[in-house]
Amino acid sequence: MKLYTADRMLTQTESGDITNGAAVLVAKGRIAWAGRAADFPASNYPEALPTREFGDATLLPGLIDAHVHLGFDGGANPVQRMMAETDAEQLLLMVRSARELLSVGVTTARDLGARSYLDVTVRDAITAGVLQGPRLLTAGSPITTTGGHCWFMGGEADGAHEVRKLVRTHHRAGVDTLKIMATGGFMTAGSAPWFAQFEHDALAAAVDEAHRLNKQVAAHAHGVAGIERAIAVGVDTIEHCSFVHEDGSHALVPELADRLAAAQVAVSPTCNFRTVAMHEASGGQFTPPVAELHDRGVTIIASTDSGIDHTPHHAYVGALEAMHFFGMSRDAVLASATSVAASVLGLSHETGRIEAGLAADLLAVRGDPRNDLADLRQLELVLARGTEFVPDALSPLPEFDLAQSPMAAQFGGVR
Ligand SMILES: [Zn+2]
Repeated sequence: MKLYTADRMLTQTESGDITNGAAVLVAKGRIAWAGRAADFPASNYPEALPTREFGDATLLPGLIDAHVHLGFDGGANPVQRMMAETDAEQLLLMVRSARELLSVGVTTARDLGARSYLDVTVRDAITAGVLQGPRLLTAGSPITTTGGHCWFMGGEADGAHEVRKLVRTHHRAGVDTLKIMATGGFMTAGSAPWFAQFEHDALAAAVDEAHRLNKQVAAHAHGVAGIERAIAVGVDTIEHCSFVHEDGSHALVPELADRLAAAQVAVSPTCNFRTVAMHEASGGQFTPPVAELHDRGVTIIASTDSGIDHTPHHAYVGALEAMHFFGMSRDAVLASATSVAASVLGLSHETGRIEAGLAADLLAVRGDPRNDLADLRQLELVLARGTEFVPDALSPLPEFDLAQSPMAAQFGGVR
């Protein structure tokens, strides 16, 4: 049992933030009590209750990244590396990635594509306490067409029958959620982001079978045709949702945005620390529509696609700064990285808020991230399911070079 106190606390509950002294009592991995420090019923507990006092700092729920790839290294060529590595090598990389995420305060992550169910192995090791890392939601290999986006992860299936069978196979292997590639992507040769890979029937079969098994479906969709199809079949989240048109341009389709809002399909927009650099290098042509979607009532969850090229896992805070840069308020960004993401991912009963009964996923940061998201880098405490974690020493983030990125291919004049 341990008590944590700080001047401020972002609870992400209806009772709101505490700004005049807050306390959280943690016992057996869970939050036993949380509230105003002045209200803490100290007489109920031993006098020598172990306590950590952070003073001029803010307690907040552990952060959530709704889209990562532990098996990608975030370097210049993660696909090449994954294809060259043995499963044993991949597993070691994934352990490092998991620790990098936890080292920057990410206590929950959804891995949306790994091979050989290595994500399930890593998840189970974390749950068992063999390895420290974020709580993981796993998807196994993304379901894709033969030769389609990320085929090299092993999830090729064509037509409704094969797709349904692969959902069942993934379920048997113990995945938490399903990922389907509704369109092509930027990272796979011969795959185009605006191309809607799966016919309606196959997509519908994935959703039908996953929901029957009580699992969510995350649809990777860049192009408008794929986004439209994904909404029509009732997926739970749309990844990227970048509204790429056939000429390679990006332009939000208001009618589709309104349908996303009406159908309560959350968008996981892949805003990450390099997105601002890409926006600037493209002369403003590339602007993720997070604020416009949010303003139209679409639920946005923080997601980085970390691991993809030039996007290290430990660049997470830069993703939240990018969401703010592109027009979301800091409060909305903080919610999308905690309570909102937990709710969308079906984890409200477990994490995302500071409330008695939930898992003790708790951060303390110097300063106040409501005034400056950069304060999230001033980590004083990382508590994952009640266990204190000492962050690893992390390598500095690389300068983003647009010309080196596969996404550069879509910008005129940049190859
Ligand atoms: Zn991804």
